[in-house]
Amino acid sequence: MAKTKYIFVTGGVSSSLGKGIISSSLSKLLLARGYSTTIQKLDPYINVDPGTLNPYEHGECYVTEDGAETDLDLGHYERFTNVPTSQDNNVTTGRIYQTVIDKERRGDYLGETVQVIPHITDEIKRCVKVLGTRGNYDFVITEIGGTVGDIESLPYIEAVRQMKNEMGPGCIVVHLTYIPYLAAAQELKTKPTQHSVKTMLESGVQPDIIVCRSEKHLNDSIKSKISLFCNVPKTAVIESIDATTIYDVPILMREEQLDVEVLKKVKMPIDSYPDLARWEKFLKRLKNPAEKIRIGLVGKYVELKDAYKSINEAIIHASAENECAVKVELIHSESIEQKGTAALLSGLNGILVAPGFGERGIEGKIMAVTYARENKIPFLGICLGMQCAVVEFARNILGFEKAHSTEIFPDTPCPVIDIMPEQKEIDEKGGTMRLGAYPCHIKNDTRVATIYREKNISERHRHRYEFNNHYLLDYEKNGMVAAGVYLKENLVEIMELQDHPWFVGVQFHPEYKSTVANPHPLFVDFIKAGMEQKNG
Ligand code: GLN
Repeated sequence: MAKTKYIFVTGGVSSSLGKGIISSSLSKLLLARGYSTTIQKLDPYINVDPGTLNPYEHGECYVTEDGAETDLDLGHYERFTNVPTSQDNNVTTGRIYQTVIDKERRGDYLGETVQVIPHITDEIKRCVKVLGTRGNYDFVITEIGGTVGDIESLPYIEAVRQMKNEMGPGCIVVHLTYIPYLAAAQELKTKPTQHSVKTMLESGVQPDIIVCRSEKHLNDSIKSKISLFCNVPKTAVIESIDATTIYDVPILMREEQLDVEVLKKVKMPIDSYPDLARWEKFLKRLKNPAEKIRIGLVGKYVELKDAYKSINEAIIHASAENECAVKVELIHSESIEQKGTAALLSGLNGILVAPGFGERGIEGKIMAVTYARENKIPFLGICLGMQCAVVEFARNILGFEKAHSTEIFPDTPCPVIDIMPEQKEIDEKGGTMRLGAYPCHIKNDTRVATIYREKNISERHRHRYEFNNHYLLDYEKNGMVAAGVYLKENLVEIMELQDHPWFVGVQFHPEYKSTVANPHPLFVDFIKAGMEQKNG
């Protein structure tokens, strides 16, 4: 097998241009040509991982099978490629420095002055190369967070320079930049791109391919200009026009021949053609819905569209599967507290109560559960959403008025959701929750048994609190049953209501496992239930 090739994806001019989507699309195209690939994100911030970050900072925290709390771009990688990622696929400056400082304390560098070059850059290169060697991939695509020119990015760009120098054509750089359209001049402007490439050149890195994000098509003369000023052949200037859905991007990149250009640069054969037939089928279903429904997503980060990224994408996969357009309405749980459920939730065909932490807006979430339960509206509660459903049932059906989760009300006389025993002694916040994939046994004669069609499933977790088994009999006698259990520790993972068209609460996060190739069965069935609700 050929040696692993390394493709770095850098960004210029502005953040949020979609490096994650370009990386995922490139990976998809190379996979479709029969190459093996993996994608990695290097994040220049100093947090060891994004697990301790507020969603307002960088959006959702994505959890991998092995329990790494990672950047949301890893979600895109998995959704596009259907290849699982792991801790190795997301490295931050904090993690790099932690490793180097630990080594220094152990005495591994004895006698040496530990410096950014070569020690930090060596550790960056090690983290990149380790992915290639461990997984034996044809390609490792490494996305560098932020934009070139940021102080924080410097050691990463330096590591790229060194790798290019060591590997020659075995290492290339795809630079994603922005070509603004000036309406007053009616012109696309290339100057910001020229400057951003110049910034890279100052660090000794010549990008090999320039992907130009733009609202308008790049004409031939713009491509020539970029080619001339940025020192790349014209075929290496790739247009990335705004798309109606991120899932169009692999198709657009195939038309623009991004993969061909990459293969040319790394001197690999271009004798196949990326077959995206299944992908195109998915797009066709997504874009030609026969029906339309409205789903309310109740949470407390509604101002920020990336806070519930994986849930939104899982709904998109499920909507394509059902050929049904789904309008997701973000509903702030605090507004429910102020305006009431009828004002905000009536007319919805399904209600999803989101994961989350802490007290703010919790009563609004519980009110949303009552509304869904009483009005027989399909309900999906995820993690904190499931915990709210358990509290709601205790209060309104079992008559335990003061029931709560001890996360919110530590002295509740009725702790139906309680901290897991092994969590009690933990003081440190970073990476200490119950994280990653755990098996779950599905009980017979439950709704989820018909949805999953499997007895033993595996789903990913991120929580400290759990259903309190002390109350299980009360629940089951009154029609809310534990439909899925982690047998080893007898942890309830799924609760469902029997006398209801569709009411499921899950302690895990099904959204992390939904991909274009494998839409998640829970979301698919939830949307189907929403369609049935609409049609009476
Ligand atoms: N805060 C809850 C817990 O820690 C739920 C977490 C979540 O929704 N991810 O158990």
